[in-house]
Amino acid sequence: MTFSVTVLGSSSAIPTLVRNPSAHLLNADERLFLIDCAEGTQLALRRNRIHFQRIRNIMISHLHGDHFYGLIGLLTSLHLLGRKDEMHIYAHPMLESIINIQLEVSKTTLLYPLYFHPLNPDVHEVIFEDNRVIAESFPLLHSVPTCGFVFREKLKYRRYLQKRSYAYCSDTAYTESIIPYVKETSLLYHEATFMDKMAKAAAEKMHSTTVEAATLAMKAGVRQLMIGHYSARYDDLAPLLEEAQAIFPQTILAEDGKTIPIG
Ligand SMILES: [Zn+2]
Repeated sequence: MTFSVTVLGSSSAIPTLVRNPSAHLLNADERLFLIDCAEGTQLALRRNRIHFQRIRNIMISHLHGDHFYGLIGLLTSLHLLGRKDEMHIYAHPMLESIINIQLEVSKTTLLYPLYFHPLNPDVHEVIFEDNRVIAESFPLLHSVPTCGFVFREKLKYRRYLQKRSYAYCSDTAYTESIIPYVKETSLLYHEATFMDKMAKAAAEKMHSTTVEAATLAMKAGVRQLMIGHYSARYDDLAPLLEEAQAIFPQTILAEDGKTIPIG
């Protein structure tokens, strides 16, 4: 059964010609979870031939624009395309009013039920569970309340011995407080906005460096690390990969349009 993640955006705050800001699509046994939804996400979904009406759950890590400015566009397109199925959004409680005011002023009444599930960015909790997948949120360390997410496949539907799991740490300063939540995950996505040389700027902006992401992956004993959320200043990502691999060799780059099988 499929367990994979497709990178829809790997840039930090500013989109570049080849990189959109943050959005990932997790296919967990044919359940599609959209994780963050920056501007450009619906185009990226189309470009990657992802049937986006199949998305039923959207997780938004925090309310910086490079993580949710694409949401109103996507929700509206789903409506215009005749969606009837429920959509569930897991986000900071303020997002509900942000979306509702945009629907209200444009006199849009969605054809489908839209449910908001407020996240508490101060705690570790289960936010979604069905017979195949369980998803948890946990606190990250950023300039606004921010949640990380971890998705775990349930074992009884799978004969293999290894459990598959995917952890997503969008925007965060280096913090070992997240290790218990992401420990031994199959694939950890951890932001690496800057290279080591800019460690001071990273700390000030509450972001991480390549070296910090790799150190965290090593300490958490994950199987594989994917770095991303690159500053627009980096055209060539090879030096970022090199820096991370020097500490944690099982590191890969998030690149727009890339699908990574997990497991
Ligand atoms: Zn960001």
